Amino acid sequence: MKNKVRHVLGISGGKDSAALAIYLFQKYPSLDVEYYTCDTGKELDETYELIRNLEIYLGKKIVRLQAAGDSHEDPFDHFLKLYGGFLPSSGSRWCTRKLKLDPFEKWVGDDPVISYVGIRGDENREGYISKKTNIQSIFPFRQNIWSEDVVAKLLKNERIPNVLNWYGNTASDKLERIVEIVSEPLSAKFNQNNKLTALLELDTVAFNKVVFDYLKTTGYPLSVLDEFPLLKNKDVLIRNDIFQILRDSGVGVPKYYEGLPFEFNGSVGVYARSRSGCYFCFFQQKIEWVWLYEQHPEKFKLAVEYEKDGYTWMQDERLEDLIKPERIAQIKEEQIKRIEKVNSKKSSYLIDILAESEVEGCASCFI
Ligand code: SF4
Repeated sequence: MKNKVRHVLGISGGKDSAALAIYLFQKYPSLDVEYYTCDTGKELDETYELIRNLEIYLGKKIVRLQAAGDSHEDPFDHFLKLYGGFLPSSGSRWCTRKLKLDPFEKWVGDDPVISYVGIRGDENREGYISKKTNIQSIFPFRQNIWSEDVVAKLLKNERIPNVLNWYGNTASDKLERIVEIVSEPLSAKFNQNNKLTALLELDTVAFNKVVFDYLKTTGYPLSVLDEFPLLKNKDVLIRNDIFQILRDSGVGVPKYYEGLPFEFNGSVGVYARSRSGCYFCFFQQKIEWVWLYEQHPEKFKLAVEYEKDGYTWMQDERLEDLIKPERIAQIKEEQIKRIEKVNSKKSSYLIDILAESEVEGCASCFI
């Protein structure tokens, strides 16, 4: 690869990517990270506020990437027109490709790129990330910082002799047990994940060094680096750590994560938004639509406007129906029941209650 390796981090407006920017800045100041954000033109004000706060903290500009930059319309509206008014959905998510991934891939071009992704140690997903071969994703919050494709290639049975050799260079004091594990071929009983977990648990740093040696034999962007400071990283960060980083740094937690109380039939419930991204995002839950209706009525009105051509944000319900008083009452009642169920968690962030919604979506919009 002829070009210099670039280190990049996408700021989605969500808590995890913001915390990752702060974490890398504090822990690996030698990394020259370029920050970017893909603006759909439909974000909440809190997202723009978070980006401004981060710029002050990092002392660096966060590059604004906009799809269809020469259009007179917001990027989302520009593409919606091209798609004939067809609203995106989880099954047909043209928005992420057009508004997030395409501008990012255009920005990095053919440069070799290390892209840092804020998927946490308590999540089991890889997200919707670029699969271009000049872009290598690294996950610093997880014990396994490597992407699935790298691990799968490294742990192939035919690579066992090489892996044993590379481990020989690590001087790990667990070598005896490591050799046993590496030597055991993958099978129905001992799959890739079992092997990966066992090796990471025994010696994370040694495993990272082995991956780095393996990458030297490939065309991955990391193959051209002489050293990579994250090889020594043993941290595993979970949701509470993320909030802690945001608060301690002074950057702050985006306001939409904070639960707001509402009253229903003498009981008090809490609602909020569980994710960043477009205010009308189809991934949001019913109670989040009610939150939008009551807390950002002007944005809700705009979301309703998009349904005028017949397409809807939710498969089973139009926004106009969702805000009928009896329907709002029903959604709030369900929310109160849900909160009662998980009340033992006692979190001030509703995201702990809406946690399951986090596993959907994509790295570009919500991390
Ligand atoms: S936030 Fe939702 S609507 Fe916006 S680009 Fe991402 S997936 Fe699409």
